[in-house]
Amino acid sequence: MTLLALAVAGRGIVDPSTPVVHADDEGFLRGRAAFETTRVYAGRPFRLERHLERLEESAERLGLTVPPRLDQLAAGAIRAAGSVDAFLRLYVTPGREGSGEPEALALVGTLPPDLEDMRARGIALASVPLGIDPPYLLGGVKSTSYAVNMVAVEEAKRRGADDAVFVARDTIVLEGPTTNVWWRSGEKLHTPALELGVLAGVTRQVIAETAPTLGYQIEAGTYRLDDLLAADEAFTSSSVREVMPVVEVDGTRIGDGTPGAAAGALQQALRALT
Ligand code: PLP
Repeated sequence: MTLLALAVAGRGIVDPSTPVVHADDEGFLRGRAAFETTRVYAGRPFRLERHLERLEESAERLGLTVPPRLDQLAAGAIRAAGSVDAFLRLYVTPGREGSGEPEALALVGTLPPDLEDMRARGIALASVPLGIDPPYLLGGVKSTSYAVNMVAVEEAKRRGADDAVFVARDTIVLEGPTTNVWWRSGEKLHTPALELGVLAGVTRQVIAETAPTLGYQIEAGTYRLDDLLAADEAFTSSSVREVMPVVEVDGTRIGDGTPGAAAGALQQALRALT
């Protein structure tokens, strides 16, 4: 990932190589900060308002104040990056320890280069126990305390998979470290319910709105890993990776082991909205 543009609340656009976070920033010291990631299509952010709302919700749960006009901060960073396909990331931190002066950053950077190759082949997931019962204390909050999520991805890769899927009590399917998880049985799409503490993904919401127009019904609930393993197809959803087909979970082939029809149709429908 290369940073293309960086904007700092109160300072505006700065050179992306400028150090902008203090060593005693609480976000850095304790992982107590809220963030958002969305996709920018040819210089236009997708569903930025919803991401800004979710940032407010996360900040509230973390006890943070959001500096004003983050939409303008984001717009400035996007303008500085030019008419690119990229990701936009927004951070709100409490600022320097004890300062009471929150800080905010907007970053625009290049997308992972291998997304379309992964979409064409489909990815493998490995289930990783989350080790705590849902709903957990910060369930559904997009905080920078993502060490567990990142270690889960590493664990999945060590096991030969591309990404992880968190499970609770050894079997209840939750979400990926940076994605929501879906599967299809017949014409029905299943995804874990928000009550389990999974993130209310913006892409998840787009899928919920779009799937019925493509002839799929949606059911959100509490499911076991066996339900996912027995599905006709599976996929993940996230702003950066969009709709990503899953062809294997814990070494078991899902459906016929190739990217499925619903994932393809939903990816197309998502792109049509961007
Ligand atoms: N679940 C988690 C834990 C995430 O971090 C993310 C996004 O980063 C998602 C789900 C997908 O959310 P969205 O579609 O809003 O990107």
